[in-house]
Amino acid sequence: MTITEFLNARLHEEQQWAIHLERNARNYLRAENLREVRGRARQTTVAWDPYAEFAQRVYRSVTGQLRILEEHPQTRGWDGDGVDNPICETCARDDRDGGQDGDPYPCTTLRLLALPYADHPHYQQEWAP
Ligand SMILES: [Zn+2]
Repeated sequence: MTITEFLNARLHEEQQWAIHLERNARNYLRAENLREVRGRARQTTVAWDPYAEFAQRVYRSVTGQLRILEEHPQTRGWDGDGVDNPICETCARDDRDGGQDGDPYPCTTLRLLALPYADHPHYQQEWAP
């Protein structure tokens, strides 16, 4: 499994969790509002739900991370060890010969994106930043 496949899987799982969390938070909020309306005055109705707001923030954060992942595709170039090795297209620098130089793939950006999932069974220790 490549780091790109790993990150795509983890981030899409997290997006699904955020959607699920927001849906549950909204259902809980509706249930609480009904209880409040039946039991007390209408003005005690809960209008703000921090759980749903947090879930939306997680969703947007993960969507941004997926965009970052897309922005760091693999290409070939000099990685300090060989002229046709995998390097990051975005992080690579143009060299004097018209080629590209870069650190071995994955770049630090992708390694940092994967770091929160270091305890996942499919995380590979060589991805550690
Ligand atoms: Zn990169």
